[in-house]
Amino acid sequence: MTQVEVTGTITKFHNCRLLKNHSIYWEDIWVRDGIIIDPQKCFYGERRDPDIKVNCGGNIIAPGYIETQINDMQVEIKKVAEGLMAHGVTSFCPTVITSPSDVYRKILPTISRCNGSREGAGVLGLHLEGPFISKAKKGAHPEECIASDLTGGLTTVDEMYGSHMIDRTSIVTIAPELPGALEVISALSKDRGIRVSIGHSEGTIKDGERAVRAGATFITHLFNAMLPFHHRDPGLVGLLTSWKLPKDSMVYYGIIADGIHTHPATMRIAHRTHPNGIVLVSDSMCAAGLSPGTYHFGQQTIDVKEKKAYVAGTETLAGSIAFLDECVQTFYNGTECSKVEALEAATLHPALLLGIEDRKGTLEYGTDADFLILDDDLQVTHTYIGGQCVYKLPTSLIQL
Ligand code: ZN
Repeated sequence: MTQVEVTGTITKFHNCRLLKNHSIYWEDIWVRDGIIIDPQKCFYGERRDPDIKVNCGGNIIAPGYIETQINDMQVEIKKVAEGLMAHGVTSFCPTVITSPSDVYRKILPTISRCNGSREGAGVLGLHLEGPFISKAKKGAHPEECIASDLTGGLTTVDEMYGSHMIDRTSIVTIAPELPGALEVISALSKDRGIRVSIGHSEGTIKDGERAVRAGATFITHLFNAMLPFHHRDPGLVGLLTSWKLPKDSMVYYGIIADGIHTHPATMRIAHRTHPNGIVLVSDSMCAAGLSPGTYHFGQQTIDVKEKKAYVAGTETLAGSIAFLDECVQTFYNGTECSKVEALEAATLHPALLLGIEDRKGTLEYGTDADFLILDDDLQVTHTYIGGQCVYKLPTSLIQL
């Protein structure tokens, strides 16, 4: 199913620098029917000139951001998808935190994968964060809904989430030290093609290594809700440098780069240690962009004070209230990494994690024309989904 208008019209974006092949260089980008096309083939093969030309004012064009963790299930998903476009997010994994079984059974059937459109960012499948996590590392998750026993295998999983889990889920976060967890990680990743992320965990490095050998490929918000780094047992953090993993395994890790959940020096340690694995996430609550006050989301009550969201009446940080575009900027400024590295952490890396790099997360020919125009401060000035401009910064001078 495509939501892109098929007209054959060719739009050429020029006077721009593309993020491509791990660098940023001057090149045009041509788009037809929602897909990035090869200008050479089109010009010489079909003898076609572009129908529309867009002068990008020398700015950067990068793939649209892919958000793998955004907690927002209590707001209508359409509204979330719509709001994300102004923040450069062109596709996302709506994230459901630990909830009672009936909530999963109610929500899951209502959320199906779809491409983005003028109405909103695309849905890449759910991220189910819990309930199979550690009570000791629950963070903002409601303890009474946490399930700590996976010895029943996939039967336990299916009883919890219901039958729609199989086709609507992209990522499941599990604490690998729970009894039965390794069998479930193996079955979900190998039999169902679902990405298993480890997190909200008291797991040691050994637990983490076993989980990766079983098929886990992601770590949920590294450093947050797990054992802190200790020199004799570095916990899940140690997976970034473990040499006891299969040669062909790749471990990605989420970083909440809001400047609050992860200190800039901590982000630098992770990034310098394992630069190709970093995936920026906002872990945003639906409080994002809202003013200080008290909010009710699902099972939680959240106090928002001075750009931080707390579990009401506690000092426990809930999700962030930043958006992914701000996280990219915070990561770039906080780590002094290159623009390429900052942008790939929100585009190419999540696409590789999800196995969708043939369609999203790059500007290769044949991929979806989901992309952003950014200035040199990495401020998103335009968001394109399927080749259509779906957001324009009001102050941008670029004429479309
Ligand atoms: Zn979490």
